[in-house]
Amino acid sequence: MTVALYAYTCGFLTLPRSILLDGAPGVATVPVPAYLIVHPRGRALFDSGLNVDCREDPVGYIGEAASKVIQFHFLPGEEVSARLAASGFAADQVDFVINSHLHYDHSGGNALIPNADIVVQAREWAHAKAVADQNLGYLARDFDTGQRLRQLQGEHDLFGDGSVVCIPTYGHTPGHQSVRLKTELGGEIVLCGDACYLKESLETLTTPSVAHDREAMIEVFHRLRRMQALGATLMYGHDPDFWAGVPQAPRRLG
Ligand SMILES: [Zn+2]
Repeated sequence: MTVALYAYTCGFLTLPRSILLDGAPGVATVPVPAYLIVHPRGRALFDSGLNVDCREDPVGYIGEAASKVIQFHFLPGEEVSARLAASGFAADQVDFVINSHLHYDHSGGNALIPNADIVVQAREWAHAKAVADQNLGYLARDFDTGQRLRQLQGEHDLFGDGSVVCIPTYGHTPGHQSVRLKTELGGEIVLCGDACYLKESLETLTTPSVAHDREAMIEVFHRLRRMQALGATLMYGHDPDFWAGVPQAPRRLG
């Protein structure tokens, strides 16, 4: 079985480049991606972009410290539900939200997908609950939104046929996961999430300035490189140059 894959840009962030690549100077403006995976037996969103609450009152939303280093660019119509609708998919007909992890720029749109099961690693959920609202990128209002929760323990084959497989890529956060897809048009595609922000991260094996476990991240970089060498296409988490060449829905990516 194969799936169809669509890419969406749910806003942009401007932040210090060192957040992406340890030691890098200056600032960067990076995309916030989300993806829709369409399988004959269900629709799964991979990450949900930003929370509309960041528009009106970014300081109240993210806190004073973070708002000094992060700027949101998130216009009406760029939230995940509107992006889905513009490409012919109703947000209330999405069956799963697979969160790579629960940082605000990956789970901020979860509330907009009301009927989905939330598919997350158990250790990520536990960590997010423990540190929510402590200025560490986890906001309860983003991820604690009441849908049914499927807490995974490591690798998980969502439809049981190898087409959508959650793979643990711990390191960026304690329970980060990526997704390996068999797509109809694009062959094997790996949605890295924040396991790898940039093409350059992988080429130079450079971790971000802030990482939960740097050694684990490097080990994940090597695993991603091996998948790439075997023919998989990697979708980097926040790479503006790479993203500029990614076809956006309603065009199909895979
Ligand atoms: Zn993150």
